[in-house]
Amino acid sequence: MRMSKLLVPTLREVPSEAEITSHKLMLRAAFIRRLSAGIYSWLPLGLKSLKKVEQIIREEMNAADAQELLMPALLPAEAYQASGRWDVFGPSMFKLKDRYERDYCLGPTHEELFTQTVINEVRSYKEYPMTLYQIQTKYRDEARPRFGIMRSREFVMKDAYSFDRDEKGLDESYKKMYDAYCRIFTRLGLDFTIVDADSGAMGGSGSQEFMVKSPVGEDGIAYCDACGYAANYEKAPCAPTAKDYLEGDLALEKVATPDAHTIEELVGFFGYENHMFAKTILYKADDKYIAAMVRGDREINEVKLKNLVGCTDDLELAEPHMVRELTNAQVGFAGPIGLDIPVYADLEVVEMKNFIIGANDTGYHYKNVNVNRDFTPDFVADIRVVTDGDVCPKCGKPIKTAQGIEVGHIFKLGTKYSDALGLTYQDDSGNDNVVVMGCYGIGVTRCIAAAIEQNYDDNGMILPVSIAPYEAAVVAVNVKDDAQKDLAEEIYRELKKRGIDVLIDDRDERAGVKFKDMDLIGIPARIVVGKKAADGIVEYKKRTDEKATDMTVAEAVDALCEFIIENR
Ligand code: ATP
Ligand code: MG
Repeated sequence: MRMSKLLVPTLREVPSEAEITSHKLMLRAAFIRRLSAGIYSWLPLGLKSLKKVEQIIREEMNAADAQELLMPALLPAEAYQASGRWDVFGPSMFKLKDRYERDYCLGPTHEELFTQTVINEVRSYKEYPMTLYQIQTKYRDEARPRFGIMRSREFVMKDAYSFDRDEKGLDESYKKMYDAYCRIFTRLGLDFTIVDADSGAMGGSGSQEFMVKSPVGEDGIAYCDACGYAANYEKAPCAPTAKDYLEGDLALEKVATPDAHTIEELVGFFGYENHMFAKTILYKADDKYIAAMVRGDREINEVKLKNLVGCTDDLELAEPHMVRELTNAQVGFAGPIGLDIPVYADLEVVEMKNFIIGANDTGYHYKNVNVNRDFTPDFVADIRVVTDGDVCPKCGKPIKTAQGIEVGHIFKLGTKYSDALGLTYQDDSGNDNVVVMGCYGIGVTRCIAAAIEQNYDDNGMILPVSIAPYEAAVVAVNVKDDAQKDLAEEIYRELKKRGIDVLIDDRDERAGVKFKDMDLIGIPARIVVGKKAADGIVEYKKRTDEKATDMTVAEAVDALCEFIIENR
């Protein structure tokens, strides 16, 4: 391809709409353009990378015996109503009506439709195991679309679904997808961690996420360098850790704390460390209210709590007027004593002694509180977020935490959808059995953002060869110089002949502009044809090299081809 013909409106300035590196660079390198919140167009360079990512995924899925098909994105409501997810998705689902007032949605994920397809099309149980997949656009009206295509409202997902006769079959299908995912993310050049994930209150027997560690990731990962254990925050179990408290069985005291609402303010007021306090937070769980307690230096893990409570919708913080109604106090003074809603306490809370809690009275706290003497929680369980220094549940060594970008998710669904929609098969003895399912997603568009987050420098992207829009570039420094122009064209033809996906920068621009663009776009290797063209000498430089090296044309072409072929 010729740079002179390509639509690459690169930007020198960092667009103000972008907060994270991948988003900034994708805009600057003219990969994407924003149309509206969480909705992006793909310009030629970005689309070319996207197609490469899709192709890698496709090859590995096919190699794992998965069959590609394509479903519509515009979907009638019925299948989602039958599974119950028409309501469960809530505001995240884009819903619309046709001219006859019939309900439709834009597909957020396709379990129902694949199940329906198998019900309609599979004639005999002998066709199982079967794994079907598609690479298709998904729609989710995210509460906080952000970071460009990292969390968008329209995005490309690869979603696969496996269908097996029994659990053992599912285990095998799942393992095949697990292995395929490892190959895919390795080929995409991602440094990834596989974590145990929460499979939700709704069932499912196992689930893992493929995470790319990155400070901009929105998921928390707990991992252990000693034994390799890794789990996401939702799943990572937390054992109570010991702390020092005041000795003895001290008498309960109500203390005026007029200006102290938060743990920080209370620490300042009492002069105790924050583990001496317990936080009581009120939540709305579907249509009822609950209170949750953790030690003052901890955070509540809302997914663990939700699973424990068993509610359908995500937990929401109780509205301030409800906090006032339930506690008879302003926000900031809630506590378990005398509270008339179920109290869920973290495991650590029951190990605390002589601690401080809100008194359900504006401007007051209780001190020297002791569990079972002053109040008894209705439920005691692990409901907190794991932190650095917690112990590994596998080997007991200290856990580390990091932020991660979820690029893939594999999930043993079991019979949730086959039960709901009636996907059964008759075996040879005439018995009816329910088909056992798994589902497997990859955020195709998100993978590109994740790859950029892991590979960039001050000058731009450093994309892996496998997904860079072009593998290599030939740059003619001065296209008005015939010797340079002709040699650049010759090298370009040769590289194409050798199967390299190559770009020629034949623009009549200053050399500096061309180099800046090639660096920004992250072209993995380039040959620059300059003043020494007449002597048959060119410069060869990989994107990661500090400096270019002078070489003969043949040497440069060989070096480039070797590098590209090795790193594809
Ligand atoms: P998240 O927790 O990031 O919202 P999810 O768990 O809801 O994701 P899944 O339903 O597991 O997502 O979807 C499969 C994959 O699709 C995810 O692993 C992720 O890579 C990708 N994905 C999900 N939501 C988005 C989005 N809004 N924008 C881009 N990619 C997404
Ligand atoms: Mg997920």
